[in-house]
Amino acid sequence: MATAIIIGGGVTGLSTAYHLARRKFGKVIVLDKGPVGDGSSSRAAAIITGLLWTETGVLARKKSLELYRELSQELEGYTFQNVGALNLFVQESWPEREQLLPLYQRLGAPYEIVDAQEMRRRWPELRPGDDFVGLFDPLGGYSEPGQYIPALTRRCLQLGIEIREHRKVEEILIRSGRAAGVKTATGLIEGDAVVCTVYAWTRKVVECIGLQVPIKAFVHQRYTTTPLPLPVNIPAINANPLGGYIRPASGNRLLAGIETPEREEHRVSSTDFHLSELSAPEHLKETLMQKFVPLVPVLGETSWETEKVGLITFSLDGEPILGPVASLPGFYIGTAFHSGGFAYNPVSGMLLAQFVAEGRTSIDVSAFSPDRFSAKEGEAYLATTVAQRDSFRRRH
Ligand SMILES: Cc1cc2nc3c(=O)[nH]c(=O)nc-3n(C[C@H](O)[C@H](O)[C@H](O)COP(=O)(O)OP(=O)(O)OC[C@H]3O[C@@H](n4cnc5c(N)ncnc54)[C@H](O)[C@@H]3O)c2cc1C
Repeated sequence: MATAIIIGGGVTGLSTAYHLARRKFGKVIVLDKGPVGDGSSSRAAAIITGLLWTETGVLARKKSLELYRELSQELEGYTFQNVGALNLFVQESWPEREQLLPLYQRLGAPYEIVDAQEMRRRWPELRPGDDFVGLFDPLGGYSEPGQYIPALTRRCLQLGIEIREHRKVEEILIRSGRAAGVKTATGLIEGDAVVCTVYAWTRKVVECIGLQVPIKAFVHQRYTTTPLPLPVNIPAINANPLGGYIRPASGNRLLAGIETPEREEHRVSSTDFHLSELSAPEHLKETLMQKFVPLVPVLGETSWETEKVGLITFSLDGEPILGPVASLPGFYIGTAFHSGGFAYNPVSGMLLAQFVAEGRTSIDVSAFSPDRFSAKEGEAYLATTVAQRDSFRRRH
């Protein structure tokens, strides 16, 4: 029986395991150095939109949105929140996005353009400025990580997947030029395929096999409010002109996040690094209120109850890195999902499982290939240290 080893039990790794088990691949083992969901997955805002920037991205997200709806039926205790996703722009930033409308039309990704007056009519709790343009994705929405991760984990266990927590992978085994398993503190685990879904830890984990993956990680933070007396009727909003986002959250709460453009990239220095070592500047809570109360006035009746800080990762060209690694047969990577790895996970897991089990995918994802960067450009990218404002700033 074939064995697949998945390093990393975030949403990408769990979803890969789920899709492999659905394909009756053989034995599937997920290893995480902490409990499942210990990385960025449990910290995500988990806003999901299909309106991305490239053909591959739009096609992949279209499938993700379909799969989220199926999972909502299949996973006990999980519901996809189909409130729609509203991407906001101002007159200066709109033309760039407007150019993508023919792509959305061609690929069948539905959208509506809504002006400020229409936004106020549809969502009375929303007060966009008159200069705002809204690109509404009627199929978008969000997931609560606290619901989705346990529900997907339970389903993986039901499907016979072995999930081994607190099992850090220290080395990747190579035999006869192929990935042949992994080494952990408690011993070797042999396998026919090794899938690396460790996101911000990728560079550290693949260092041992001399692989260079051109990704950078940035600190990112989001907050939830105290409960309101009633649910807030707004969609999941990517408020690009405000540098952040806001959505409803469980228990009549709101969830909002903001980027820190001036902050330098975070270099993960060891495989032992844990996200709890990160912190967010204290002033952000006040900044978020100042920026978002004019857009969603009811936010002013709350205070911040929780803060989650994690990492988001970006590749050299801003697109995910997903697929087999040509120089090491049997080894696969899924990483660099910018701030959209939660939105991608149903399809990124499906695509990785297809690569492993069938050697080809139902969507052409050559644009995400781990082999698309030359060694020279990868080295040059990694040699520089940049602030987030100077990297890609694609949201969700
Ligand atoms: C504040 C915040 C808000 C976000 N909002 C959104 C959003 O609205 N929408 C969206 O789509 N995305 C969002 N994201 C991004 C999203 O969280 C990530 O893209 C996604 O969770 C990546 O999932 P993953 O499984 O690839 O990685 P992770 O969830 O980071 O999982 C990697 C796992 O690998 C494990 N690991 C690491 N090293 C080893 C090792 N050596 N051995 C074994 N295990 C190891 C880690 O413990 C971890 O559990 C947000 C991120 C943050 C931080």
